[in-house]
Amino acid sequence: MSRPQLQYLADELAALEAKGLRFRLRVLEGEQKPISIFDGRRVINLSSNNYLGLTTHPRLRQAAHQALDREGVGSGAVRTISGTMAIHMELEAKIAAFKHTEAAVVFQSGFTANAGTVSAILGREDFIISDELNHASIIDGARLSRATIKVFPHRDVAAAEARLKEVAGQPGRKLLITDGVFSMDGDIAPLPQLCDWAEKYGAIMMVDDAHASGVLGKNGRGTVDHFGLHGRVDVQVGTLSKAVGALGGYVCGRRELIEFLYHRGRPFLFSTSHPPAVAATCLAAFQVLEDEPERIERLWDNTRFFKAGLQQLGFNTGTSETPITPIMVGEGRKAMAFSAALFQAGLLATGIAFPTVPEGKARLRTIVTATHTREELTQALDILARVAREQGIL
Ligand SMILES: *Cc1c(COP(=O)(O)O)cnc(C)c1O
Repeated sequence: MSRPQLQYLADELAALEAKGLRFRLRVLEGEQKPISIFDGRRVINLSSNNYLGLTTHPRLRQAAHQALDREGVGSGAVRTISGTMAIHMELEAKIAAFKHTEAAVVFQSGFTANAGTVSAILGREDFIISDELNHASIIDGARLSRATIKVFPHRDVAAAEARLKEVAGQPGRKLLITDGVFSMDGDIAPLPQLCDWAEKYGAIMMVDDAHASGVLGKNGRGTVDHFGLHGRVDVQVGTLSKAVGALGGYVCGRRELIEFLYHRGRPFLFSTSHPPAVAATCLAAFQVLEDEPERIERLWDNTRFFKAGLQQLGFNTGTSETPITPIMVGEGRKAMAFSAALFQAGLLATGIAFPTVPEGKARLRTIVTATHTREELTQALDILARVAREQGIL
């Protein structure tokens, strides 16, 4: 039976198809690795956030198995009812110690950590001063808070100060918020200057370190550690889903922030906590970050090698300073066609177009990991060069 009330959705999909922007999900068989099988094809994988190769690390697997055997598959409730297990508390204590903060709270994902925190700590009378390229979860949290949102141009510290000045005389609270590493461009926030503004104007300072967790700072402690800003960022968000290799998000900061989120963080209050195996996996991951710093060194060695190779070939890698390296293409259709041709040639590099990035700024997004070999990266550069010439991109 047809459902005319859903016809508009089919129409929207047809419009995407016509623009060359409709995608199909690629299905991964087996493990998330530098060389993986997607849709039955063996490809060099430059599209995962598995920066350190922890998704398949033996110590993490073992921790998951042990927790599964000891405590079962699920927590059975939200944290505030009966779903707080000892392993959840242990993980939070570990994160707080790792980040040198008083306390930490774990959410189901980085997305819910951001959205749940911003919407909990601000209200209708307040102001959010936000970088234009901040992650969708920050934008959603800001909307949910009903605060007035003032967006400043990407990494423009003068504009950020101007926005703070505009609202300085208003009674509401102010939140200055930025991604630590920007997820589509791979550049780093001007955090020292933003911290100065936050202090000057009495704003709460918040950073989303999803792509800096396990990547930047000592043992992967993030941008606050990278810049030596301990104690100056009120709310630090990190993810457990990228370099840490499993799933989740966390907020760390002062004890009163964390206790408040226990009471008002809606995903914390209304959505079930992680299975014990997930918490145990993350706990093991933080131990690995401390015990195996060579993984982060290899990640950065590979990043320098690959970025230099791309630039030598004449690709435009934008403003990237981290393992996230875009290859700027411009037109959405062209980026998607480039990505499709690369896949046929044995390389997975996802095309990213509007609305994930602004119109006219479509790109391929590449991420190298610590576990790619030099041979794999060299082969990836060869494939990129050949297909780019065929597609008229180089
Ligand atoms: C991936 C990402 C998130 C979301 O993290 P998940 O744990 O995957 O939900 C939040 N912020 C930024 C900047 C991200 O890149």
